[in-house]
Amino acid sequence: MSRFWSELVGELTPYVPGEQPKLGKLVKLNTNEHPYPPSPAVLKAIASVSPDELRGYPDPESSELRQAFAARHGLAPDQVFLGNGSDEVLAHVFQALLKHEQPLLFPDITYSFYPVWCDLYKINWREVPLTPEFLVDPTAYRGSNGGIIIPNPNAPTGILLGLDGIRTVLEQNPDSVVVIDEAYIDFGGESAVCLVPDFDNLLVVQTMSKSWALAGLRVGVAMGNETLIDGLQRVKNSFNSYPLDTVAQRAGVAALGDNAYFKEACEKVVASREQLSEAMSKLGFDVLPSAANFILARHPVRPARELFAALRSRGIIVRHFERPRIEEYLRISIGTPQQCKELLAALAEVLD
Ligand code: PMP
Repeated sequence: MSRFWSELVGELTPYVPGEQPKLGKLVKLNTNEHPYPPSPAVLKAIASVSPDELRGYPDPESSELRQAFAARHGLAPDQVFLGNGSDEVLAHVFQALLKHEQPLLFPDITYSFYPVWCDLYKINWREVPLTPEFLVDPTAYRGSNGGIIIPNPNAPTGILLGLDGIRTVLEQNPDSVVVIDEAYIDFGGESAVCLVPDFDNLLVVQTMSKSWALAGLRVGVAMGNETLIDGLQRVKNSFNSYPLDTVAQRAGVAALGDNAYFKEACEKVVASREQLSEAMSKLGFDVLPSAANFILARHPVRPARELFAALRSRGIIVRHFERPRIEEYLRISIGTPQQCKELLAALAEVLD
């Protein structure tokens, strides 16, 4: 606490991201980054940025990248909003579209940034419990509310909700904005973007940090009805006119232009996920069925805290959440086949 802080700042409990250690030889499986590099077209595009382009400000509307996302998803550019990572997009969404008198609804086990934005923007919220199998029950999202946000696949469970379930949530809540946070959708789900023409209350948020292997570039996107996008533009233009720099805009367009590379890299991650899930089951773990680039797994007798520490001492970093219902689970990002092999060898040694 400092006498210079506003009252609000003193009350905040900021989000804690997974650590980004600077040590050399680590097997880093804690923040769901893509294990493979981005398309070579991205590096070429970055190298093509001229000194004069860096001297001047970027295009405040990221027009080319907006157009590229719109074309990819069969939308118009005014149905697309861009931000500096989907965390920034989501922060604007909370402020512009989810702050109302009634509470915002989200799952009890979910992306732990949601309550942080609620505190920042003074938004009431109510948690909706996942089923005992950790599924989102779409019928539980009903009754008066000020909005709904659900990650799909959910994080950190990795479990997917089908489009029918999302349609149910949308139909039950025609007067609330329903945000589907699709950070991990490209690893095994069908995007709800196809429902945008049918529902003026649907906003789909995606990121280039995971499936596009560009966490370092910070590009996030929201797609939905023009009116929702206009609301986000109003916040953006009252906050930061230039959220995406010239390099990010150019590189993002190049990445979207190499769909073949994107698809192949995602397929490799999915294949590794299935192999890792099976191998960990053989070691005795309960592994939740994941449609993401991570798995959530629990050993029936060995405490998660102990396994986390044992892996760490062997240079393997995973994520452990001290949160009700999942404190005995570890969240493990899918690495390269070599990293998965090292993880399995370490687990076998620890369990022996
Ligand atoms: N949504 C979910 C569910 C996430 O797990 C993450 C990554 N922490 C994000 C959004 C934000 O990702 P980024 O800001 O890198 O786009």
